[in-house]
Amino acid sequence: MALCTAEDYVERLKRMRPNVYAHGRKIGRDDPMLALPINTLRFTFDAVNDPELRDLMLTRSHLTGEEINRFTSLNLSVEDLYAQQEMKRRCCHRVGGCTQRCMATDTLNAIGVVSKEIDDEKGTEYHAHFLEFLRYYQANDLVGSTAMTDMKGDRRARPSAQEDPDLYLHVVKKDSGGIVVRGAKNHITMGPYVDEHLVIPTRTLTEEEGDWAVSFAVPADAEGVRIISRVVTPRPRIRLEAPYNRYGVADSVVVFDDVFVPWERVFMCGEWEFAGRLALTFAGFHRHSYCGCKPAITDIILGAAALAAEYNGVEKAPHVVDELTELMVIGELVYASGIAAAARATRTSSGIFTPAFLYSNTGRYMAGINIYHEYDVLNAIAGGVPSTLPPEEDWLNPETGPDLEKYIRRRPGVPPENLHRLFRFISDFSCSAMAGWSQYAGVHGGGSPIMEKIGIRSGYDLESKKRIAKRLAGIEE
Ligand SMILES: Cc1cc2nc3c(=O)[nH]c(=O)nc-3n(C[C@H](O)[C@H](O)[C@H](O)COP(=O)(O)OP(=O)(O)OC[C@H]3O[C@@H](n4cnc5c(N)ncnc54)[C@H](O)[C@@H]3O)c2cc1C
Repeated sequence: MALCTAEDYVERLKRMRPNVYAHGRKIGRDDPMLALPINTLRFTFDAVNDPELRDLMLTRSHLTGEEINRFTSLNLSVEDLYAQQEMKRRCCHRVGGCTQRCMATDTLNAIGVVSKEIDDEKGTEYHAHFLEFLRYYQANDLVGSTAMTDMKGDRRARPSAQEDPDLYLHVVKKDSGGIVVRGAKNHITMGPYVDEHLVIPTRTLTEEEGDWAVSFAVPADAEGVRIISRVVTPRPRIRLEAPYNRYGVADSVVVFDDVFVPWERVFMCGEWEFAGRLALTFAGFHRHSYCGCKPAITDIILGAAALAAEYNGVEKAPHVVDELTELMVIGELVYASGIAAAARATRTSSGIFTPAFLYSNTGRYMAGINIYHEYDVLNAIAGGVPSTLPPEEDWLNPETGPDLEKYIRRRPGVPPENLHRLFRFISDFSCSAMAGWSQYAGVHGGGSPIMEKIGIRSGYDLESKKRIAKRLAGIEE
């Protein structure tokens, strides 16, 4: 049963040990508070039966030959990377934002690459552990978190120099059965509704920091795991039901309070030289994912802004045309970076293709620095109504509804309900808790823009550019 239904997924969540806390109380994974965030994941299961998405969503396991959801697959060719990027763009269109499930795809691929490289150099058996875990993950169509970002404490201090060593997750005990880990991971998207936490280091480490060089998978309800969540959803609708309002998200602090992990689920333990490689390999995959999902956000902003301009009768105004064109450039430039990253991918010793780091970083950086500008364009074109429109209850109230219908009008021929729907959507999308989440995610998710700049310049051949300038200037070497 390599392909599960959304119901299978929800049923297994219900069976998990309650270890989720949200907004002041301990909740079950069937708590209504989580319904909208879980809907986003349900979409990723339903999408394999959607005629428009099916071909992108389905691929075959290289381990078993069975048909699997692409979100559980490895990238074993350039074509796989193209398909990943396109799948993310198309899926994000449907849920109106982040589909969330790509995090684990990127982590699995990164662990697949680096566990093999550790084995190649050290004669360990991490890659075999990984492949066995992947077989289980694919066979059960699982959902994983990426538990990478440590709490980090004092940003000036290395993990070993923190006041409390637990501010970066680390190994506190090892024996013949496995390891015990302690610490917490921050910002973990989907924490309350994943099957597994996939843990990787967040940074490069030194020889003294071997205890922090650890990667593993644990069931999300394992003994000692606590998930402290923040749920964000769009405002509920009454009659003007809309697809955008069906989906939400939850992020979390995931605490690992002396959690036991058996060796067969450990993919790195002590190999400090590979910690940075694992963190950056994940970053490369995830920034490539952003080159698919961020253009989808641009598409949504662009579509909403163009429609608002059309309803307002200003779609031909030169400044509107110009601003919409700018959005087209941003979205397609980011997407093109992802294509370039895939086209220049490297085949690693595991057989997994890693996207070219220069281009995945360039794309993610362009996306990150433009996110507020894109919302700015939507805001300017939509006018102030998304922030002041009286709530749906007033539109439905027979005493006030007729006023709102008569006075909220734009170009003749546009039905008032369409206006109410569009401006409510723009309000939910750009002037709400969900919008704030999306903007912060757009800047920091996958790494803040400064991290991409560091990634771009670290491998950049600046000397060759100086040589070009010297030659043109007639400067002798
Ligand atoms: C919505 C959302 C979802 C996320 N989901 C996940 C997830 O599922 N899994 C996961 O692992 N992570 C996730 N992240 C984490 C994301 O990768 C981090 O937010 C990002 O790496 C920045 O880390 P931080 O938030 O701790 O910021 P900080 O580390 O506090 O950095 C903030 C700023 O401080 C400066 N700074 C920080 N450290 C230094 C330093 N040493 N020297 C100089 N300047 C410094 C930089 O300017 C940086 O931009 C998510 C983030 C967001 C916003």
